[in-house]
Amino acid sequence: MRDMTPYSGRRVELGELSVVRTLPARGRRLVGPWCFLDRFGPLTFQDGKPMDVAPHPHIGLQTVSWLLDGELVHDDSLGSHAVLRPGGVNVMTAGRGITHTEQTPVAHSGRLDGVQLWVALPEAARHDAPSFWHQDRVARRDDEGGRLQVFMGHLDGLTAPAPHYSDVVGAELTLVAGGHLSPVLEPGREHAVILLGGDATVDGLPLEADVLGYLDPGRQSVTISTRQGGRVLLIGGVPFPEPVLMWWNFVARTPAEIAAARQDWEAGRRFGEVPVYRGPRMSAPPLSRLADPNPVS
Ligand code: MN
Repeated sequence: MRDMTPYSGRRVELGELSVVRTLPARGRRLVGPWCFLDRFGPLTFQDGKPMDVAPHPHIGLQTVSWLLDGELVHDDSLGSHAVLRPGGVNVMTAGRGITHTEQTPVAHSGRLDGVQLWVALPEAARHDAPSFWHQDRVARRDDEGGRLQVFMGHLDGLTAPAPHYSDVVGAELTLVAGGHLSPVLEPGREHAVILLGGDATVDGLPLEADVLGYLDPGRQSVTISTRQGGRVLLIGGVPFPEPVLMWWNFVARTPAEIAAARQDWEAGRRFGEVPVYRGPRMSAPPLSRLADPNPVS
């Protein structure tokens, strides 16, 4: 049996929305190129708009949104507009700079449950022009033990068409009661698993809620099992070779780059606007605490 290293998530309040952040964790800033992971929900609502993230900028990363339930609408400064539902994916490549909003749409189910992740862009891609990708239904395979869906990169013969710039995988394993799935892994990759619902074990080790279970490189496969049924997020990739600096919604390399991006945002330069959003855009926090990023997602 191989080991699994747990990293506890922490609860973060983003306006009305409470999330559990498991990346970056103390002692574990990256898993492959993945540098950020927020879980929101599950929650039900009748009035209001639990997801209402005002216009805010990004550089140097891709945002990847994956829903388990409910719906989200994305708008950005390129004019992209996409309604995300379970089984689909939104991938926004910030490159040198983009602005976006994420909201609960007016027509909604009254439910919300999902994750937002960020992928750090490598040097060769992080200064490129921004872009946006949406897909209604990602690559999937149904086996006796459940369903494997790959929304980013590739895993065990399934390939996601969303653009990516490093070796990466993002997937959900949805297990039927009493079932198991054993995807083939690439030994050069490191991985992490998160319990999204139900119960699960990873190579026999129980996976707790709100904990990131880190799996080091060298594995040929992993067996994820459940008793009552479960949903598990699997992320990974070849360990990212570049040191990254994260602050607020920016992924860069140096404090000077962060300061320049912040200054451009505050001055209304570089990032464009999201004119369809009704309401003020976000202001950047003071730059005094560069070592303590507080991303808004
Ligand atoms: Mn964002």
